[in-house]
Amino acid sequence: MADTAMVDVAIVGGGLVGASVALGLAGSRLRVALIEPAPLDARPPQWDERCIAINHASVRVLQGLGVWPQLALQAAPILSTHVSERGRFGVARFSAAESGLDALGYNLPVRQLGEVLWQRAAQAPVQVVAPMRLTGASPGDDHVGLTLADGRRMTARLLVAADGAQSPVRGWMGVGAQTHDYRQSAIVTAVRCSRPHRGCAYERFTPEGPIALLPKPWAQEDRLCSLIWTTPSPLVADRMQTDDARFLSQAQEVFGGRLGRFEQLGRRQAHPLQRVVGSSLTAARTVFVGNAAQALHPVAAQGFNLGLRDAATLTELLATADDPGDAALLRAYGQRREADRRRMAGFTDGVVRLFSNRVPGLSGLRHLGLLALDLVPGLHETVLWQNLGYAGHSPQAAREP
Ligand SMILES: Cc1cc2nc3c(=O)[nH]c(=O)nc-3n(C[C@H](O)[C@H](O)[C@H](O)COP(=O)(O)OP(=O)(O)OC[C@H]3O[C@@H](n4cnc5c(N)ncnc54)[C@H](O)[C@@H]3O)c2cc1C
Repeated sequence: MADTAMVDVAIVGGGLVGASVALGLAGSRLRVALIEPAPLDARPPQWDERCIAINHASVRVLQGLGVWPQLALQAAPILSTHVSERGRFGVARFSAAESGLDALGYNLPVRQLGEVLWQRAAQAPVQVVAPMRLTGASPGDDHVGLTLADGRRMTARLLVAADGAQSPVRGWMGVGAQTHDYRQSAIVTAVRCSRPHRGCAYERFTPEGPIALLPKPWAQEDRLCSLIWTTPSPLVADRMQTDDARFLSQAQEVFGGRLGRFEQLGRRQAHPLQRVVGSSLTAARTVFVGNAAQALHPVAAQGFNLGLRDAATLTELLATADDPGDAALLRAYGQRREADRRRMAGFTDGVVRLFSNRVPGLSGLRHLGLLALDLVPGLHETVLWQNLGYAGHSPQAAREP
């Protein structure tokens, strides 16, 4: 800590996105500090039992960061997706084969992803300031002044706010956010099914919210799935507390029999769901990345994928910067990221609203929508490419093959 007083870039928050920015800058000539309240040899609480789905573009970014070979050992390939609505026949299907790819993406344990990113960041020429919380930030002309929880001070020419959906940095920098409480939680667990998943990720919409089963990486077994069940708030306590047999039979009734019988259940966790979209991606000598910029409903599995594109765009811009907090660089970052995040936030929110209500006219629209996604070639391709992570301006590290 002795020489952390002045750095070029201070990254606040060592979650998945902050750690990715740190690794991306590790080879640069910039002096970088990463500030995180969790100790380096422990795990932040958000690296839990969950798996997250990463898309094709994200795999390319992680390859560029040099962490993919290690992550691939524990990643389950997603070879196809199958999207349906309970009680209707329309189905939208996407496959890696139709796009000439090995996989559409991968499902991997969030803990594994976090640990690998941290291990690499700790080995890199990055000053890891942990366990330590940032307690204040104030912008000056050529730096941001930072106050740490132990009273020490630092200055940085650029502050990277990777401090999550409730971002304290947003408050200190006077940046607002639009928040929407979905009044739902995602109940996340693992399910062993009687039929193999064959690499298919299923998502089934119901008026209560979607239920998704994704291939879960576990040795060579292909009957284990991650289950994410979006549950209205009044039902969460019951679904969390009921015994395994009843939970399995309720989930089975909603999901149906595509994967055979649900035979065994893992540990359950509930994540309350909110959308938080910051009103700006930048402030004086500050950029927002990952959940600090936008936290989305997990229905489209886009949060980390989007945050990784924030990280890759920022590291790309910083590679040639003389002054990392220069106003022109901040403007370029905002311009490159705004359309992508607006599109994904709008798409994700639209899917939640369209599929989470019982208005009769909308039911027909949903049905037509799923059929169109399956059958209309231009639309099918557009959505496929977007889900692979290749819509709009992509950072170089995440360009389509
Ligand atoms: C149920 C669920 C399923 C999901 N599934 C997917 C998926 O399949 N695919 C996908 O792409 N995304 C998914 N996501 C979203 C994804 O998990 C998040 O977008 C991603 O983890 C956000 O990472 P982050 O680093 O931006 O934020 P966070 O993980 O919130 O990290 C913020 C960090 O900032 C630190 N911090 C906070 N305050 C301070 C401070 N004052 N000083 C210093 N540090 C501070 C915290 O300790 C923390 O480590 C899912 C989310 C949920 C809830």
